[in-house]
Amino acid sequence: MRAQPKASHYIGGRYVESPEGHPFPSIYPATGEAIASLYGADEKTVEAAVSAAVEGQKIWAATAPAERGRVLRRAAGLIRERNRDLSILETLDTGKPLQETLIADAASGADCLEYFGGLAATLAGEHIDLGGSFAYTKREPLGICVGIGAWNYPIQIACWKAAPALVCGNAMIFKPSEVTPLTALKLAEILTEAGLPDGVFNVVQGYGDVGAQLVSHPAVAKVSLTGSVPTGAKVAALAGEHLKKTTLELGGKSPLIVFDDADIDNAVSAAINANFYSSGQICSNGTRVFVHSAIRDRFLSRLAERTANAVLGDPLDEATSIGPLVSKPQLDKVLGYMMIGQEEGARLVCGGKRADIPAFSDGLFVEPTVFADVTDGMRIAREEIFGPVMCVLDFSDEADVIARANDTEFGLAAGVFTRDIQRAHRVIDALQAGTCWINTYNLTPVEMPFGGYKKSGMGRENGHAAIEHHSQIKSVYVEMGGVEAAF
Ligand code: NAD
Repeated sequence: MRAQPKASHYIGGRYVESPEGHPFPSIYPATGEAIASLYGADEKTVEAAVSAAVEGQKIWAATAPAERGRVLRRAAGLIRERNRDLSILETLDTGKPLQETLIADAASGADCLEYFGGLAATLAGEHIDLGGSFAYTKREPLGICVGIGAWNYPIQIACWKAAPALVCGNAMIFKPSEVTPLTALKLAEILTEAGLPDGVFNVVQGYGDVGAQLVSHPAVAKVSLTGSVPTGAKVAALAGEHLKKTTLELGGKSPLIVFDDADIDNAVSAAINANFYSSGQICSNGTRVFVHSAIRDRFLSRLAERTANAVLGDPLDEATSIGPLVSKPQLDKVLGYMMIGQEEGARLVCGGKRADIPAFSDGLFVEPTVFADVTDGMRIAREEIFGPVMCVLDFSDEADVIARANDTEFGLAAGVFTRDIQRAHRVIDALQAGTCWINTYNLTPVEMPFGGYKKSGMGRENGHAAIEHHSQIKSVYVEMGGVEAAF
């Protein structure tokens, strides 16, 4: 199986190669096969991307917002027409089952381009009456935005970063994760086909050093990273040194709280989605599932029963619901935490080891795993695992569970299951998390701002909030009378 792109980078509206850059493969995690070989950007390539972005941005900023919106909406249409091909490519690059990529990856990217395309013509400033004289504000682009992606939702992350940046008249240089380099290139092709001027959306490949070069480049105005907390700290420090505007979408260890009046089957569905979708490789996952002790046993037995129905196997078979993890380091990390959980004394309800899939003996599959009797101090309850490992913790008191849910350095997401409407809102109000759900989990429509409290990030993606993070306001005072001076 090969998925070789025409070249590694997409700069100024065309594919560009950098044979002197650092070579790296894209691996299909189900088989371990290299499906493409690419080169990281060398310094010349980074400079070429910046020059293309500078030129492209001038043209794009002068384009009427309504026309920018039309381009983004055309791109959304093209993505939808090609959803199956893009989804297969995403499955090959990430290992995520086609059952998921068909609905959650390119498709959600299309929703994002359509949403911001729709907002384009509404971008406006305000008129401020000063009594005779007046002021007005204009919303202006920032300039060149750098997007740096993680490997779990490659094309979705590229679209979530590109759409709000582009609609505001910025250019973007996007660096995908070195683990999943392929679909961002397809997005670049599609944007060109939709009418985006050359240089407005560029893709450069590489490891973190290429990301850092982009962050510190003097021509770059803004950086938006999706990645881990340690990378976020490095990017924020470097961006801070150069006083670049920064959006960070980082990791989490989010709580999902299930009260004793909850609909148990819905709560189990949510816990499954919050831990096993994309093999648990989702930043907002509700990996600390606090279950009221009155329903704990029923919850666990229903959860074990339903988890046994997961179909692990060929990611390209639409019946498969759990694919492999993305990479060998990720596999080792997740297996390590499965051991740690057992050593720490958590009770293994199901899973706990590498999954044996005969037709995919080199595949990076692990069993969906549930630990019960987890206590707050255990490492499996405190550290982001980023794999299909659910921790179930007991509680019986509302105030106590809120305090325990908040006792973490992260604050990306949180969920609550209860039929008591006042309790639902009271608990959500008290939770320190940027993205919350009541009686569901992990739904992230583009209309809803997404982002984290505490170490889980800064700034917001999606919704109107993203416009604030990708534009700047110019205030203009207009004097309608004379000008007085002291002398
Ligand atoms: P990572 O932090 O290892 O890498 C993220 C990106 O940063 C990659 O493109 C990498 O090349 C780049 N990078 C690494 N070092 C850099 C540096 N010094 N300067 C600039 N760029 C650098 O993360 P990952 O392993 O790709 O993704 C998993 C992590 O991402 C998890 O922690 C997960 O929670 C988080 N994540 C967050 C969100 C969100 O929206 N909050 C979404 C998906 C993933």
